[in-house]
Amino acid sequence: MSERHHLEACLKRLKLSGMLINLDMRLKEAGENDLNYIDFFSLMIQDEIGQRDHNNFKRRLKAAGFGEEKTLEGFDFKFNKIIPAKKIRELANCHFVDMRENIVIAGPPGIGKTHIAKSLGHEACRRGLNVLFKKTHKLFNDLLNCQLTNKYDFLFKKLIKTDILILDDLGFKKLKSDEAELLYAIVDERSGCGSTIVTSNRPPEDWAGIFPDMVMGGAILDRLVSSSHKIFITSRDVKSYRKEGAGLKNKNLDGGDKKL
Ligand code: ADP
Ligand code: MG
Repeated sequence: MSERHHLEACLKRLKLSGMLINLDMRLKEAGENDLNYIDFFSLMIQDEIGQRDHNNFKRRLKAAGFGEEKTLEGFDFKFNKIIPAKKIRELANCHFVDMRENIVIAGPPGIGKTHIAKSLGHEACRRGLNVLFKKTHKLFNDLLNCQLTNKYDFLFKKLIKTDILILDDLGFKKLKSDEAELLYAIVDERSGCGSTIVTSNRPPEDWAGIFPDMVMGGAILDRLVSSSHKIFITSRDVKSYRKEGAGLKNKNLDGGDKKL
C-alpha cells in the first residue's frame, strides 16, 4: 500500500472525513504556496472542524422535524410590509434563547407565520441550538395516544429539554380539557428553561376562547404570552402569500416585480 493510500485509510478509520475530502486541495495548496508544517496542519484541522460543524448542523435540522425547510433568506419582506422585518431579523440572532424568552406570532392564514417560525428555528440550528418543530394538534394526538407508555416519557422529555420548541398553529381548534392539561404541563415545565415559539391564526383577543376553562387558560397564557416577543399582525391589509404569492418568487428572482 502506498503511503498516500495508507494515510487515506487512517483518516477513514479515524473518521476524519473533513481532512480526507480536502486532502488533494490542501496538498496542492501546500506545494504551490510553500506552506510550513504548522500552516498546513492548521488548514487540515480547520477542514475537519468545518465538516463536523456542518454535519452537526444537518443533524440538528433533521432532528428538528421541520419537514419543508424555510429560511429568512427565502422570505420576501416586501410582500407584506406590515410584517416587522427588523424585529424578526433581530430575533434571528437567537438572543431570546439565552434569555429563555418566548415568541408569539399571530395573524391571518397564509402570511408566513409558519415560515418565520421555521426560519428562526433554522437560525438557531446554525448556532448550535436544538429545536423541535411540532404541529400543535398532531403533537397532542401523539402524546394522548401514547400516554402510560415509555414513548410518552421519551417524547415529553424531548419537548422539555429542547432549546426551542415551536408549537405551530395553536388554537386552530378549541382545546379539549386533556389537551389543555398537556399544554399547561409542557409550558409550565419549560418556563424559565427554554424558549417556545407559538404561531396561531387566531387574533390575540380571541385566545382566551380556545381554552375549556379560564383558570388553566390564564395560567397558560401567563407563562406563554405575557412576557413574550409578540408579532401580532392584525391589519386587514395583509395579503396571503399562499393565495397571491404563487408565481411571484420567480419574477422576483428575475429582477423584481414593480408592484411589490
Ligand atoms: P401561515 O403559517 O401564516 O398560514 P405559511 O408560513 O404557511 O403561512 O406560508 C404559506 C406559504 O407561503 C409557505 O410556502 C411560505 O413559505 C410562503 N410564504 C408566506 N409568506 C411569504 C413571504 N413573505 N415570502 C416568501 N414566501 C412566503
Ligand atoms: Mg401556519
